[in-house]
Amino acid sequence: MKNLLLLYGFALWSLGPAPAQARLTVVVTTADLASLVREVGGSLVEVTTLARPAEDPHFVDAKPSFFVKLNKADALVEGGAELEVGWLPPLLDGARNPKLAPGAPGHISCNQGVSLLEIPTSLDRSKGDIHAAGNPHYLIDPVNARIVATHLAEAFCQLDAASCPAYRAQLGKFTEALDAKLAAWQKVLAPYQGRRVVAFHNSWPYFTARFGVKIDLFLEPKPGIPPTPSHLAGVMAKMKEENIRVIFVEPFLNRKTAETVARNTGAVILDVTQFPGGIKGTEGGYLQLMDQIVNRLAAALAGSSK
Ligand SMILES: [Zn+2]
Repeated sequence: MKNLLLLYGFALWSLGPAPAQARLTVVVTTADLASLVREVGGSLVEVTTLARPAEDPHFVDAKPSFFVKLNKADALVEGGAELEVGWLPPLLDGARNPKLAPGAPGHISCNQGVSLLEIPTSLDRSKGDIHAAGNPHYLIDPVNARIVATHLAEAFCQLDAASCPAYRAQLGKFTEALDAKLAAWQKVLAPYQGRRVVAFHNSWPYFTARFGVKIDLFLEPKPGIPPTPSHLAGVMAKMKEENIRVIFVEPFLNRKTAETVARNTGAVILDVTQFPGGIKGTEGGYLQLMDQIVNRLAAALAGSSK
């Protein structure tokens, strides 16, 4: 017995000193938020992302493993503004983790502090509009990414006070890089103020507000409602009339529909994603993803005559 205890003691000793603090286990709904969580949390957080980067954030396939991840998590990071309303609530109920209950410090809704656009003046869900709480795709504006990163750092400080200086330092490093990039992105797009672009889904009003390229004509008649022939005819007429030559398509949308529209109007399709890893060359995170969108858009607009 004594030998066994000695052996046990030796085994503990040989593992080296225990880490001062266990890492925060964070479950994140989408890959864009996960990228910011990694920037702010660094090696102090262990991140699991529920939606795949190329998956529609409004309609995520729930897997049984999600319950286990949520059950063991210290924190849940969600976009809020009803982005995940169609799939997250039942998962959260099933996970039975009081740390993640709405209102608990471990339940982090990133829309807090963000000014939402397109908040409907009257609610009419019967039309199937999935943006009933306002447009939830706010992270594509770098100024909102800054607000969210700051919010994340403060939320992590609340959950893990010992590491707070590190969270704040990592936040400072990220926001410095972000501010420098934002100035560069605005410069790249400055020549294209007021130019119009068509998008499949209305995920771009925050990008429009920040960068001045108008992305305000959509293949979907309403967010979440598939295109109809009559709606597409109207869009194509408008594209010809105003010589709109670029169509944004995200990976989870029906590219064939966009190809038909492009063929009929002489437009080009620009494959874009708002989620790091959704398209090749965006795996590096939020800054790399924004670089790709801005540069691809500028190239497409430069190549299409006004
Ligand atoms: Zn949407």
